[in-house]
Amino acid sequence: MSAIRLQSNLLATYPEPRVAFVEGCGVELTDDEGRTYLDFAAGIAVVGLGHRHPAPLIAAHLQLDKLWHASNLFATDPARVLATMLSERYRGAQAFFCNSGAEANEAALKYARKATGKTGVIALEQGFHGRTAGALAVTGQPSKRAPFEPLRPGARFVAPNDVAALRDAMSDDVGLVLLEPVLGEGGVIPLEPEFVAAARELDALLAFDEVQTGVGRTGTFFAFEQLGVTPDLVTLAKGLANGLPIGCLLVADAVTGAFEPGDHGSTFGGNPVACAAAVAVCETIDDDLLAAVVSSGERLRNGLVGLPHVVDVRGRGLLVGAELDVPAGPVVDAALDAGLVCLTSGANVLRLAPPLVVDHTHVDHALAILREVLSA
Ligand code: PLP
Repeated sequence: MSAIRLQSNLLATYPEPRVAFVEGCGVELTDDEGRTYLDFAAGIAVVGLGHRHPAPLIAAHLQLDKLWHASNLFATDPARVLATMLSERYRGAQAFFCNSGAEANEAALKYARKATGKTGVIALEQGFHGRTAGALAVTGQPSKRAPFEPLRPGARFVAPNDVAALRDAMSDDVGLVLLEPVLGEGGVIPLEPEFVAAARELDALLAFDEVQTGVGRTGTFFAFEQLGVTPDLVTLAKGLANGLPIGCLLVADAVTGAFEPGDHGSTFGGNPVACAAAVAVCETIDDDLLAAVVSSGERLRNGLVGLPHVVDVRGRGLLVGAELDVPAGPVVDAALDAGLVCLTSGANVLRLAPPLVVDHTHVDHALAILREVLSA
């Protein structure tokens, strides 16, 4: 086994890695033995523009040569510009920057608590919002919560797209409804517009966790743009800086004002290098790229239909799930051995979340590998 893969001094929070990657370029990864792979995982839906895309690469390099960190006690240009760009895309919203998706959701939970004075949160069965204590408390996957109970009280979970259950779960103490537009870790389940409209009608703040679906992944900059409702809060992370750590809570213009100085913070939040890369990402995600995401996603979904063991194909844009009639883990392992990096989403769902810049040749190549692996 290669020296890189010997994990002895890392806490065993992940299974033993089977491959060590040393380089990435576009849609391709190279391991420590020089073998190349087609990357349909993108660092878990993170490297949206592909590895070493020149726009964030140059922006981060330039910023590294200027200023790495000053803290939020002082203004820095990249954070200011990024907040302005996101505000323009989301109706005058104000931004809080942090370092991860879980942190962004922690900020949303605290914001809703302060804005409404209420502790109850409606979230989704199989939803995923992160591993920190607050985000875990509203994650609808009991096995992830169980070892850490009791967690923050007040969460109640309803099945995705069950409008009656959603209305039943509502009560006076609920201040927040927290939804993923597509459940990324919970089986790649897209929410229906009717369900989201019913959530919007409830007397509570509506937050979309767009940590996985945001920044173009589903074919629009925010996935909620396809659902016909405007949320009060949005969280982003993964794809925002193309691989540098960043998270963000966006608070819609209509509901700003709940946080005052001292209510929340993050030493590294708004880091100039991460924000400079994120500005370049936001500049690069234009209508042409979003149209290409829609087209590649359609080709991928169409190609998955009818492959051996595939019983359902779901998703939006380039967040695609293929439900299998066999466990997905061994299929992901076999695909890796065959040169394709992909993901699971729950026990039986194969998840494909390639860089948004994949072309049809990449998609066809991935489908050919999957056909071979699923036929074995
Ligand atoms: N929310 C969603 C929808 C996610 O998919 C994830 C991570 O997979 C998170 C939150 C947590 O993000 P992070 O791992 O950056 O804390």
